[in-house]
Amino acid sequence: MKNSFRIFATCDMGDSINLLRSRGYDVEVYPKPEAPPKSLILEKVRSGIDGLLTTLRDPIDAEVFAAGAGTLKVVSQIAVGFDNINRADANKYKVPFTHTADVLTDATAEFAFLLMGSVARRMWNAERLLRENQWGFWHPYLPFLGDEVAGKTIAIIGTGRIGLSMIRKCSGFDMNILCYDPAYQNHDFVQGIQEIKDLIFARGLVKEKSWIKYVELTEALAQADFVSVHVPLLREGESKMPTYHLFNETTLRTMKPTAYLINTSRGPVVDEQALAKALREKWIAGAALDVYEKEPLAADSPLRDPAIEDRCRLYPHFASAARITRLSTDPTKGMAGRCVQGLIDVLECNYGGDITKMPYVVNKEAFGG
Ligand code: NAD
Repeated sequence: MKNSFRIFATCDMGDSINLLRSRGYDVEVYPKPEAPPKSLILEKVRSGIDGLLTTLRDPIDAEVFAAGAGTLKVVSQIAVGFDNINRADANKYKVPFTHTADVLTDATAEFAFLLMGSVARRMWNAERLLRENQWGFWHPYLPFLGDEVAGKTIAIIGTGRIGLSMIRKCSGFDMNILCYDPAYQNHDFVQGIQEIKDLIFARGLVKEKSWIKYVELTEALAQADFVSVHVPLLREGESKMPTYHLFNETTLRTMKPTAYLINTSRGPVVDEQALAKALREKWIAGAALDVYEKEPLAADSPLRDPAIEDRCRLYPHFASAARITRLSTDPTKGMAGRCVQGLIDVLECNYGGDITKMPYVVNKEAFGG
């Protein structure tokens, strides 16, 4: 079947774009690696495109939906987080938008897991020592030591898809696990993990018993050696339990001075001024971050303070940046494939044209779902 839909993609998505073209779609791809200016997105939407392929860098709000009133049929985002898309505005204009949940779950959790090693085992500091030719001797404790990850206690903040995947990885390292999530608690999953922990202890495969349980936030923060954040960005008014600045002076002070904070969720979940202070004044031992309040990270960010660089690992929103995860055209494996499939579902009226049945559409409530 040939289609004549017009699409604007705010960035290239590899072979998945060709897949659309092979189906007859007229696809224009913004050629630069940076995000296009909003004025260009508005211009394209106003010109009557049927679908918009977006990234988390694009602000998709009432202005965009108004510009596409009567013509824009779908916004398809290559990310699971959609805090850049105003859901209320999408609903008002009855435009379905899709995201790429699941296919990046394990890659993101794996990255969060590896960040614990990078900051706690001081991987960056150790490699820099060698590269700067400062490795003069082997010594029991000089020039510095790191902290082990295995067997420690971790708090998982947000037990959705990525939080649960992180739990599986942490249980492989015999960690004790404190779970916190005020909106969704998967007790069956937690019980399954506990059964595995009990089994490997009973079979003599580990020396110490380890455990997992749901607790309140304060208990999770006060007891954990690592705190890993897996929540969506929810601002005031968007949720009864907003996550904006969930990590602030108060919550950071609740953590142990020996604990590490890992954030692969969204930057504004952490108050960066407060975190920089926490690191400078050693309220916590360290932090590893993948996301920032403003991206890319500003040259004058307090997180770049040389006084805290040995305790603060910084990565460029990289957690899902693995080859298959990002670019596979298979919608069950890759973000690009799933993003494009979400667009196809809506435009080609898959699922009998019933938007509430389309698996990648987020705002089903606007269509009676
Ligand atoms: P999800 O919706 O499956 O899970 C999020 C969980 O957070 C839910 O269980 C929800 O109940 C919980 N939650 C909501 N408010 C909370 C609060 N106040 N306190 C604690 N928990 C709360 O989402 P997911 O697929 O696991 O993704 C989580 C987030 O990770 C995404 O929204 C996105 O922002 C981020 N992410 C980042 C990257 C990256 O590249 N760094 C990659 C993928 C996802």
